[in-house]
Amino acid sequence: MQQLELIDQSGPGWHLAPEPGAVYSALRAARETAHDAFTRYVGQWERSVLACLPPEPPLDRPSAEDFIAALWLRHATNWSPFFISTPALVIVEEPRTAECSWDQHQVIVSADMMRKPVLLHECAHLMVWYDVNHGLAFRETLMALWSAEFGIDPARALKLASEHGL
Ligand SMILES: [Zn+2]
Repeated sequence: MQQLELIDQSGPGWHLAPEPGAVYSALRAARETAHDAFTRYVGQWERSVLACLPPEPPLDRPSAEDFIAALWLRHATNWSPFFISTPALVIVEEPRTAECSWDQHQVIVSADMMRKPVLLHECAHLMVWYDVNHGLAFRETLMALWSAEFGIDPARALKLASEHGL
């Protein structure tokens, strides 16, 4: 397990640095409600946007860790993650699992879900921890990451968002 490094609140580029312990319980409570109808619409939108990507087999652990590290280094400072260090990848047995842990700073996935779009989604959650319910800040982060990493036009993603009622 890597050493977690808390954000230096005085450092440049870290514009929001809350006390992690003070909000973890609120995050957990909010997460309980994350699987609501609105979140389902987000899932449908996400699938429609990503349908343009060629199908790829799941990554192996080294490739997935490399992707997460590169993503984090390139983009995390644009948002407000709790931790400045790269998130750890945790691979679980239970199939079709993809989630993150803010306080452990982990991306938690099953081997069948180790695809770039899934890892990117979970890293986006870690970057905008305050928007656990796939709200506007999360979706904006997602669109910025899709554009930078997959070349997906944000205007197209926005158009599809409105078609999905977002
Ligand atoms: Zn999510």
